[in-house]
Amino acid sequence: MTDQYAVFGNPVAHSKSPKIHRLFAEQTDQDLSYSAQLVPQDSFNRAADDFFRGGGHGLNVTVPFKQQAFDYVSFTSDRAACAGAVNTLMFQDDKIIGDNTDGIGLVTDMVENLGWTITGKRFLIIGAGGATRGILQPLLDQNPQHIVIANRSVDKALALAKRFSESGYLLGCGIDMLPGQSFDVIINATSAALTGSALDLPDSLLSDQQANCYDLMYAAEPTDFLRWAAEGGAKTADGLGMLVEQAAASFALWRGIAPRTNNVIAQLRASL
Ligand code: NDP
Repeated sequence: MTDQYAVFGNPVAHSKSPKIHRLFAEQTDQDLSYSAQLVPQDSFNRAADDFFRGGGHGLNVTVPFKQQAFDYVSFTSDRAACAGAVNTLMFQDDKIIGDNTDGIGLVTDMVENLGWTITGKRFLIIGAGGATRGILQPLLDQNPQHIVIANRSVDKALALAKRFSESGYLLGCGIDMLPGQSFDVIINATSAALTGSALDLPDSLLSDQQANCYDLMYAAEPTDFLRWAAEGGAKTADGLGMLVEQAAASFALWRGIAPRTNNVIAQLRASL
């Protein structure tokens, strides 16, 4: 019988996960189906109960359910516990286990696909939402020199810097406090582009050595943040590789086999 997987989100019609997992399944010769399910905002637990009682094997969870999924599962991995959010659920030994593959997806894309160095580098992460919580521990595990978290609402940046302070050298601040500082790697983890707002960033943020700038957002055209970075001479990348790599990590957890990702990233890029 074909094993059932799904992604729960709201909205979810735009999700690329069904296509990514279909390509992984074809490549690795796995018999599975993967659908996108629109779940009402207040119905995550009921929808997840129905899915697993109906024989579902594993779920991905996207906005706005990652924290509800964290509360729902019986056990969490260490990285999901650090993030306080779950994006991958699996049914194992009569229990539902929650993991978070967003951070490892970013690190794999940066290090293996893009050839960027994390160790010893000065990092700036702009934004202090769910995505930043998911990527902080996996980045800190690579021993950057330090990470500054800058957020429009300063209190959230300070809270995150405190929460992860035992894992590395972290500082929280407001975006308006950045002038005068410079960084080797800058990550845009805000959703500013979704509302059409621009981040007002000083060019001096970019290191004199060529900086690397990564936008967690992806689109057919470079985002405003990546345009700003390229004009300042930085190397740039968007979050499409992270999306595929986090999916590959979920697939490996579910199926015990790691799919190759380069062709899948290229196929998705061509279809944007
Ligand atoms: P959240 O809603 O949890 O957080 C949004 C963050 O953006 C907050 O820090 C918020 O600041 C900030 N922000 C929003 N609007 C503005 C603005 N106009 N100016 C400055 N800051 C702003 O979202 P997530 O953390 O879940 O997602 C962030 C981005 O990452 C999204 O674009 C999402 O699509 C992308 N993402 C990509 C993934 C991938 O695989 N490529 C995976 C996960 C996320 P404040 O706290 O002040 O409101």
